[in-house]
Amino acid sequence: MIDKEAQICHAGACDRILCTRQEVINLALGFTEDFRCIHCLAKDLEASKDALLLLLKMKDYVNSRPCFAKEWQKYTSEMDCPSPNTCYPAPCFATETESN
Ligand SMILES: [Zn+2]
Ligand SMILES: [Zn+2]
Repeated sequence: MIDKEAQICHAGACDRILCTRQEVINLALGFTEDFRCIHCLAKDLEASKDALLLLLKMKDYVNSRPCFAKEWQKYTSEMDCPSPNTCYPAPCFATETESN
């Protein structure tokens, strides 16, 4: 479902690298081509302008869908993310939050 070549954000002048998890977030949102990074997605989605909030929301959603969860879980630790500077590795790899 996701090829191994690193994807680059397709939004305008943004050229952030998309890790597999960001690709999965695109797919989960219904974007199947011209993937965008989480920052550009958050900017475009009216409801969630904060990239970290979007990540956390999609993390829950993705993990409730086996086909997406399978891809998401190919990364097992923060070391797997190829673009930690443009991601949020700590919350992204945190085990499920049980609060609220
Ligand atoms: Zn971008
Ligand atoms: Zn990442």
